[in-house]
Amino acid sequence: MITPNTNYNNLKDSYLFYNIAQKTKAYLENNPDKKLLRLGIGDVSLPLCDEVIKALHTAVDDQAVKESFHGYMPECGAPFLRQTIADYYKKRGVALSPDEVFVSSGASDELGDILDLFDRSSSCLVIEPAYPAYVDANVMAGRKIVHLSSNKENGFLPVPDDNIKADILYICSPNNPTGAVFSRDQLQAWVDFANENGSVILFDAAYEAFIEDETLPHSIFELDNAQTCAIEICSLSKTAGFTGTRLGYTVISKSLVRNGMNLNDMWVRNRTTKTNGVSYIIQKGGAAVFTDEGQRQIHDNIKIYKNNAKILMEALDEVGIWYTGGKNAPYIWLKCPNNMGSWELFDFLLNKAQIVGTPGEGFGSCGEGYFRFSTFGSVEDTALAAERLIQLFGKE
Ligand code: PLP
Repeated sequence: MITPNTNYNNLKDSYLFYNIAQKTKAYLENNPDKKLLRLGIGDVSLPLCDEVIKALHTAVDDQAVKESFHGYMPECGAPFLRQTIADYYKKRGVALSPDEVFVSSGASDELGDILDLFDRSSSCLVIEPAYPAYVDANVMAGRKIVHLSSNKENGFLPVPDDNIKADILYICSPNNPTGAVFSRDQLQAWVDFANENGSVILFDAAYEAFIEDETLPHSIFELDNAQTCAIEICSLSKTAGFTGTRLGYTVISKSLVRNGMNLNDMWVRNRTTKTNGVSYIIQKGGAAVFTDEGQRQIHDNIKIYKNNAKILMEALDEVGIWYTGGKNAPYIWLKCPNNMGSWELFDFLLNKAQIVGTPGEGFGSCGEGYFRFSTFGSVEDTALAAERLIQLFGKE
């Protein structure tokens, strides 16, 4: 009899979103007249911008005509989109050749698939609290995981020290769930550490478009010598509302070499074996995000989410609840008031104010005592939630 991958037995039950769904369902069954204010979701609520929709329609029409029809697309991405993305990096002073850019169906797919580049004996470091997929993808592969807790004292932005021993280093900035963003100096410390130790950083830049403080790096390749130690994984999901449309990109420099093996060449080999490329129509829609008009329109949407963040941050400031994030990220990470636990605050907010957030404990044990608000909901719900937070936690 075949033996399935027994590493799956080591996965912890992913009860976070299941528990949230169960608790909210039970609440609504008992309180059918109440409306929930959903600040837990990581999905976007605004539709694709006009520029993208126009490009998608044109691409659909191209597929109806023999002369403009496209069959299989190049596995690593359409040349027009690889060039467009390389040009986007150039505006930030990062020089890439188009064949260092790989078009993908999204960051989640890549975060799992990219592990094919590394031996199963390699260990990986996960800075917690963390996006749960990092741990789970490595548990499935049977890798050793080194958990590095971050905390309020270091602003949820730990820097490396000599005690850390790991081959693959996950860094997510702006961070989900904390919304914290590494400064140039802090990120440079990780880059230097990775180069000194021969590790590889997997830099998750899914929220780079939310950075408004221009002293903060959007890409790890803005740092010195990152091209010899980092892979950047990005997504149009949150940047441009592509959560259901699916498009992302991965950058691997041609100078990323370990043990004489070139990781860019290896990824070309991997993609040409394991994918037949992303749909022509979606890549055309994705390219529209990077035009001047596309950039203006997606940033108009991001401003709406930023306004939600502002509304929530003002309420938290008013009632004196500590938080980080919100300014350069779509998530606000707050310290549960009155020494409540994460789930205790979840139940309290659900029952007293019909607000649904995400308990921090779901992102790693050091998230206990913290709570995440997403700013991707509607402005009406967010404003009402802010009002209720003030009523609940404001001084008499
Ligand atoms: N990385 C982080 C940190 C995320 O929060 C998410 C989605 O929530 C993803 C990656 C996945 O993005 P995608 O929709 O491109 O798969």
